[in-house]
Amino acid sequence: MSNKTIDLRSDTVTKPTPAMLDAMFSAEVGDDVFGEDPTINKLEEKGAEMLGAEAALFCPSGTMTNQIAVRVHVRPGDEVICDRTAHIYNYEGGGVAANSGASIKLVHGDRGIMTPEMVLKSINKDDAHLANTSLVSVENTSNKGGGSIYSLAQMKALSETARDNKLKIHLDGARVFNALVELDEPADSLGKLFDSISICLSKGLGTPLGSLLVGSKEFIGRSRRMRKLMGGGMRQAGYVAAAGIYALDNNVTRLKEDHARARQIASAMESLGYIESILPVDTNILIFKLDADVSQEKFMKHLEDNGVRTVSLDPQMIRMVTHLEIDDEMTGRTIAVLKAFN
Ligand SMILES: *Cc1c(COP(=O)(O)O)cnc(C)c1O
Repeated sequence: MSNKTIDLRSDTVTKPTPAMLDAMFSAEVGDDVFGEDPTINKLEEKGAEMLGAEAALFCPSGTMTNQIAVRVHVRPGDEVICDRTAHIYNYEGGGVAANSGASIKLVHGDRGIMTPEMVLKSINKDDAHLANTSLVSVENTSNKGGGSIYSLAQMKALSETARDNKLKIHLDGARVFNALVELDEPADSLGKLFDSISICLSKGLGTPLGSLLVGSKEFIGRSRRMRKLMGGGMRQAGYVAAAGIYALDNNVTRLKEDHARARQIASAMESLGYIESILPVDTNILIFKLDADVSQEKFMKHLEDNGVRTVSLDPQMIRMVTHLEIDDEMTGRTIAVLKAFN
């Protein structure tokens, strides 16, 4: 049996494969602030085309693409609607307040999934006492919702709700390819539904870093200025963009394998006495809760001692994420380690 560590903390832990490194080493590069990096230009064109939008912008992180989008869409004093589990609210350092001067109205969705009715109820009336609601942000898949998915119909309905009410709508699509692959839907239907889309190349797609912000030419033009303002203008970053092109060509359809392995672990867990509940596994994220009388510290130490790394999201609540470094042997070993705990 192999003893390689099984790192299920996140799908961000992957390292570039030899084939991806080859693509990176042979990249043609230039100064992207002058618009002269052919590999970045190619990645941006490719991303925009895949998502059915006019233009794209390559940024160092998904936090930056989300924050630029919010900053471009809203004015200080505006309000952004998102689910209470949203990354932009929980995990971006308070950036919506700090960067955009906007407040947030939280929706209590089901596993991170908001309905049009919930959004409608959260829109402030036109009243000088109230913040001006101007943006809806949708997260697909929802990370804290356990990798839950908005279907294409659900995304369409939210888009219509936003537009009927003259709101902008942003998609935090850090893992949107996980959703699309699982739904068996084409990506190019998304561009017209959203005013902006952020996708992470460094999650399940396996690059060392990088995210794309996608939208209209006008929006991306303003975002390019904002990226510079935020210190995100990069020079010969084509070496990294080459990894992104490689990932979009090779690592999208295989995401289904990650979903199957996450489900395999979840179904083995169902028969374990010390687990109180498991969130449904729709994609590559598995969130479960330990029984109240189980010491989480002891459980996580058992996993660590046996080479399985996980993270705690909340007390008794643990997350596992499958990704391209997790193979069948590791999946089987994870299940064996879980069964050995008592
Ligand atoms: C990871 C993630 C991001 C962006 O995170 P970075 O680490 O800054 O790239 C945004 N939204 C969601 C839902 C994420 O999971």
